[in-house]
Amino acid sequence: MSAPNIDTIVSLAKRRGFVYPSSEIYGGLGSAWDYGPLGAELCVNVRAAWWRWMVYERDDIEGLDSSIILNRLVWKYSGHEDTFSDPLVDCRECQSRFRADKLREQYRQSKAKAGEYILVMGWRFLERGELKCPNCGKANWTGVRPFNLMFRTHVGATAEDDADALVYLRPETAQGIFINFLNVLNTSRRKLPFGVAQIGKSFRNEVTPGNFIFRTREFEQMEMEYFVRPGEDEQAHQEWIDACRQWFLDIGISAGNLRLYEQPKEELAHYAKRTVDIQYRFFPEREDEERHWDELMGIANRTDFDLKTHSKKPEDAEGKRLNPDSTEDLSYFDEQTKQRFYPYVIEPAAGVNRTVLALLMDAYSEKTNDKGETRVILKLHHSIAPIKVAVLPLAKNKPEIVGMAKAIKRSLQPIMRAVYDDTGGIGKLYARQDEVGTPFCVTVDHQSLEDEAVTVRDRDTWAQERIKVANLATYLLQRFADN
Ligand SMILES: [Zn+2]
Repeated sequence: MSAPNIDTIVSLAKRRGFVYPSSEIYGGLGSAWDYGPLGAELCVNVRAAWWRWMVYERDDIEGLDSSIILNRLVWKYSGHEDTFSDPLVDCRECQSRFRADKLREQYRQSKAKAGEYILVMGWRFLERGELKCPNCGKANWTGVRPFNLMFRTHVGATAEDDADALVYLRPETAQGIFINFLNVLNTSRRKLPFGVAQIGKSFRNEVTPGNFIFRTREFEQMEMEYFVRPGEDEQAHQEWIDACRQWFLDIGISAGNLRLYEQPKEELAHYAKRTVDIQYRFFPEREDEERHWDELMGIANRTDFDLKTHSKKPEDAEGKRLNPDSTEDLSYFDEQTKQRFYPYVIEPAAGVNRTVLALLMDAYSEKTNDKGETRVILKLHHSIAPIKVAVLPLAKNKPEIVGMAKAIKRSLQPIMRAVYDDTGGIGKLYARQDEVGTPFCVTVDHQSLEDEAVTVRDRDTWAQERIKVANLATYLLQRFADN
């Protein structure tokens, strides 16, 4: 099973210290969340799993960590200053503000329900008052205007309105990779095809964030830009789509809760030739199956747009440089064909936070014990679980047992995340570890003092096995390898 809805995860996350509402003692901040002790571990494990898969287990990818604040010109030539915006519209009657594109989708759906399948372009349906305000029911709209999603700030001790000091918090990590293309190419002596991976925070001033950590204004991206020869882009794109889907399966997401979504031409970003989203069933409670799904990750074929737009050489029809500010040409010389060209880029882009949410939802299950009580078990993949093993003393008033349990915890710590816990009876301790997804509990009892063995309890089956302390680490590592 998996979680029946996101709210189930919100309450578990707060109760057990995965995620808290941010700034709560001051009334909170809309759509901002803080990761608690277990949530922070979960994020570390997701990042590590992605980095290991993307950078270490392949021989054609390098890592990078670029600045969050870049020269403003990066965002001018990437197109973000002009086009990275949402269309907004206000209701003149009740002053509610909406994303016009969301209203258009509502309008299209209401028409479709009435049996009228139409393609709605532009904003005429608002101007003509054909859609009523979802808040007050009137149809008196302002004009539609673009709202840029980049957060603005200023560098240095300058006036607020000094245009020369204006900078943005990056809305994606990708541009930091493109502007370092030559640096990585020259220092790593790479040949095409090769990729550059980056994990880091990005910021978007979303008009309508929400659904817990699904959409927040501050979020963490895991992006990789894979550079290929033009003509080899379509095959590489398909290979990455398949590889990314497999990665989600490998970290424990069930196949039935994943699907591929081909973005239709009219939804594509201006630079994209083809984009496929991997969607997760984030909203299983919705009646209409089609509305269960939303984006977990996107895999785009960005063509040669990015490297070209940041290059000094390309010219328009009249011989004028398209980018008079760049000092470099980001083209590639192919030794084999003796040709110079701008590589195409395949971009698999995922979010740490959305991946965490999908993992929590997918791992959620309930089990009834022999007393008829329902227990929550978080069946996280072992590689993702925040805690790998909890060492528990059966009697906390027996110094020998406590000492042995603490010694076992310390001996395991160098090879896996282990904790010691004696804050309750054994039943309660087991239930707590089940609920946070700890794959194994190790219990030290009176017998352990004599036979140098402990009880290992499996989270998913509740089966118990007696293991010699000397063999414990090897046993656990084998179980992790089998997961
Ligand atoms: Zn209204």
